[in-house]
Amino acid sequence: MEQVRQHHHVHPGHHRVAVPDRRDRAVGGDRPLRHRPHHAGADQGGRPGRGHGGPAAMNRLRPGSAPHVPLLMVVALLITAITLTSPAIDDGSGGAEPVPVPVPVAVKKEVPVRVADEGVARRGELVALRQLVIATGPDDFGLGTWRSVLDRFGTPYDVLLAGSEPVTPQRLTTPEGVGRYNAILLTNNALLREGPAGQFTSALDGPQWTALWDYERTYRVRQVALNTAAGTEPEDHCLRARSEVAVEGTPVPLALTDAGREVFDHLNPDVRIPLTGSYLYRTGLAPGCTAEPLLTAGDDVVAVLSRAPDGRERLALTFSTGVGSVPELLLGRGLLRWATRGVLLGEQRHWFSVDVDDWFNVTMRKYPDGRTGLYRLDGRDAVAAAAAQDELARRHPQAGEFRLNLPYNGSRLDAGAPATCEDTGSPDSLSGCSKFLVDEFRWVNHTANHPQMNDTTYAVNRAEIERNLEFAAAAGIPVPPTVLKTPEYSGLGVYHPDRADLSGPPTDHGLGGSNQALLDAARDLGVKYVQGNMSFAGHRPPCFNCGVAHPLRPEVFVVPDWPTSIAFEATEPAEQTALFNAAYGRAGTDPEHGDRDLTYEEIIETEAEIAAQHLMNGSVYAHTLHQGNVREYRPGHSLTFDWVGATVAKYSAYFAVPLKNPDWVSLAGYVEARTAHFAELAARHDAVWNRVTGTVAYTPAATGALFVTGLETRPATEADQRSADEAETYGSDTVSRVGLTAGDRVVLKTRPAA
Ligand SMILES: [Zn+2]
Repeated sequence: MEQVRQHHHVHPGHHRVAVPDRRDRAVGGDRPLRHRPHHAGADQGGRPGRGHGGPAAMNRLRPGSAPHVPLLMVVALLITAITLTSPAIDDGSGGAEPVPVPVPVAVKKEVPVRVADEGVARRGELVALRQLVIATGPDDFGLGTWRSVLDRFGTPYDVLLAGSEPVTPQRLTTPEGVGRYNAILLTNNALLREGPAGQFTSALDGPQWTALWDYERTYRVRQVALNTAAGTEPEDHCLRARSEVAVEGTPVPLALTDAGREVFDHLNPDVRIPLTGSYLYRTGLAPGCTAEPLLTAGDDVVAVLSRAPDGRERLALTFSTGVGSVPELLLGRGLLRWATRGVLLGEQRHWFSVDVDDWFNVTMRKYPDGRTGLYRLDGRDAVAAAAAQDELARRHPQAGEFRLNLPYNGSRLDAGAPATCEDTGSPDSLSGCSKFLVDEFRWVNHTANHPQMNDTTYAVNRAEIERNLEFAAAAGIPVPPTVLKTPEYSGLGVYHPDRADLSGPPTDHGLGGSNQALLDAARDLGVKYVQGNMSFAGHRPPCFNCGVAHPLRPEVFVVPDWPTSIAFEATEPAEQTALFNAAYGRAGTDPEHGDRDLTYEEIIETEAEIAAQHLMNGSVYAHTLHQGNVREYRPGHSLTFDWVGATVAKYSAYFAVPLKNPDWVSLAGYVEARTAHFAELAARHDAVWNRVTGTVAYTPAATGALFVTGLETRPATEADQRSADEAETYGSDTVSRVGLTAGDRVVLKTRPAA
């Protein structure tokens, strides 16, 4: 099925509306390496060759599936744009506007502990919270791996290219005696590089190794090496060679030892980590050596924790891991946490949010034979969706918080329908049942009538946003006024230049091509966040889990979503299968379609694998489905929950830590804070950790936010609810968001891991 996961390109075919090009897929996972490993002399063993790691997995995208076609909505807009009639609001009787239902606000439980003073320190007690990656060249394979791990976490680091730049005491400490680095990360234990005759030698000479080890010992800084060969050069990790092998497509399962379960305690203790696309040294421990195995492949040791004779602590993996590979996604966090003793800038958590767009609306349905019709959910489907959420939580405690987000179109909501899911003979059981189940889901403004908003006027934009909130208020549905999802992400710079020719994918004009009147109306109505789409280059932020302040209206912040290839016109497996294969199957319209049609089970598997990759990455962005996908096509089953369940099952097989499922305001607020965090990192103001007093001190360059893992926290008070600080315990870590004011030094209490 590899072909299906390659780049796809949607052909809009006969759809006569704007068709987003959903370049949504982060590829990666256990792809084989592009290059073949070199094989060196017996003394050093094989070495992965010089492959380019490529961009981080989150940047590799592929187009996805067909979007939905709001046939009726386009027509409806023409009719209703002026009058905007509603069955729900009786403007003639009293005229009072409905009072919005308060949206439940996420209550802060913890905050980081701030202290007045960091205290004094002696040499060797102060280290900057910055990591040093030492690689042998810009195309050192392990450099891409470390970058991927560190960028995802959002932790600052420097790269030193051994052989190009010397390792000296001055490079590692400041003139004041502060250690510049809190962890040393090597791409391989000996920093070997290939000479002209094909021999491998270390890029560091003896004095440079001594300078590095002196620093690690004096400052009690830990070292992690990827791709470590057995042997005693340049130092002994207690590993003795048994065999070595290039691992291609057939996975070698790696298991955690008891010690490994502590270092990688965010993983399922019984996890089997599939190693592919790697070069693996199978080793045994030298007799009498005190190293502790962390990972095994069968009877062989493939990761080890050891203490050098001078007391330095080291961790070594005996295999290479490709960028975005499953082993990298599973192990990166634990390696970094161990290396830094659990105190570092940045954070990584795991998230799963799903938007089901167009709730209350009627959308196109496409039958397997190509005929089209219309579809709208009814109350029974809503009941089934709520039950499926509970069932998901029962099966997978990691997804215990999971709730669907429902971007809704309120012009078809009957606010007067009785709030019940009982069959009352009401012509609109969806409205009444949605009112009854209002707290089972979360609600997002998706406009009243679902118009294309690329050219809409200020008045229409304003009415579409405002009226949709009023419809919800009249029905007692809580909706945050600060979040807006425009129909098909329209109005945000992606459209067909010729409005008369809507065939083919639309052009991405960048956010600068957005509808200014939409942004103005949104801003005037208090919208802070507009949902974007990772398919569009113009919506893709420059850092992981970041967003983009809109260039035409900076008060509006764009938070992208992940689209899926679950077709909006599909309500059951046969429809999804036909639509998917029409694009990606044997005769698919996609230029890179597969060589055979897939079954429904294979499609769900493929789609779940792509989404699980986002979850494993720690991507916070929501995935998008549509209302027809929620249809309970047979008892206990919908396309939505077939895919959600398969996705969560993949995640749960690997991870013990929960999948966070924040409300949209919290999600967008997190993305905004991550963006501020990366801006702060760019100023290169180091946070300095005093290991004796257990404090971190930081002087911010800007007013904003900084994420820190490993701070002491305390329960939040009433007053803390209004502060910019926030913290939570996630797995065995604390994750804090520290509110910053430019120039105001903050001192925080640390809680290092063991
Ligand atoms: Zn929609």
